[in-house]
Amino acid sequence: MQVVDSRDGLRGSRGSAPPPVGLVPTMGYLHDGHLSLITRARKECHTVVVSIFVNPTQFGPHEDFERYPRDVPRDLGLCEEAGADIVFTPSVEEVYPHGHATFVEVSGLQDLWEGASRPGHLRGVATVVAVLLRLVGPQRAYFGEKDYQQLQIVRRMVCDLCLDVEIVPCPTVREPDGLAMSSRNAYLNAGTRSRAVALWEALRAAQQRLRAGERRAAALCAAMEDVVRSCEGVELDYATVVDPTTLAPLERVTGEARALIAARVGGVRLIDNLGLVL
Ligand code: AMP
Repeated sequence: MQVVDSRDGLRGSRGSAPPPVGLVPTMGYLHDGHLSLITRARKECHTVVVSIFVNPTQFGPHEDFERYPRDVPRDLGLCEEAGADIVFTPSVEEVYPHGHATFVEVSGLQDLWEGASRPGHLRGVATVVAVLLRLVGPQRAYFGEKDYQQLQIVRRMVCDLCLDVEIVPCPTVREPDGLAMSSRNAYLNAGTRSRAVALWEALRAAQQRLRAGERRAAALCAAMEDVVRSCEGVELDYATVVDPTTLAPLERVTGEARALIAARVGGVRLIDNLGLVL
């Protein structure tokens, strides 16, 4: 496994790497969710590139960029075990050279849900993914469904900018009680950790109501809200049922639909989602 931290270094390693190349972009502090993406890429690609970069442009001014958990030495060991060939660990200056002024905006999609709660976040995501795709030049790039809106933004961008890469969605990896794995779960203590499962329980409640015959999205959202309300210390940001591609809110579920939820648990903001099945 080669570890490179510069554009030149990446060009050198990437130049001799046999295609298809699979890219797994991450912000590090790797867990089994990230590793499932690397493992999938390993199965499907000749060369697996993992990027580890805590992207400043996707954090708001009062968000957790500085204190976002980081442990690159441990991450490198996990990448090696999971079969990565190249790990790209650039500095901020390497990704955003002096004078950087170009951003990617996915109109509409970037203003909904996460975009409404975290202005500028999805613009930062789209921009860094565009840069990484250009630098690495993969045939495939792997993204978790855990960050569902991010996945849809990346798909839209790749389509609109005619980027020649296949975006591969990967299912959310969960803890045994259902909590979606996330680097931010490291912020939870014993008390908040046990309450954090409320997001998953809310999503399951929506699915159960749907299975029981309820088609009205408002009622499914109310089912999610009820679960969160019953859980002390969990503060709902949004719970919604949307079209899986446009993320526009649905009135009724008649086909494919996605339930999205975001909440704060003891000050830690968590997100989750579930594909609803009729
Ligand atoms: P992050 O390091 O949080 O930016 O995540 C890097 C990639 O891993 C993104 O494509 C995420 O959607 C994906 N990911 C994060 N958590 C999970 C999870 N629990 N299951 C599957 N994929 C995940």
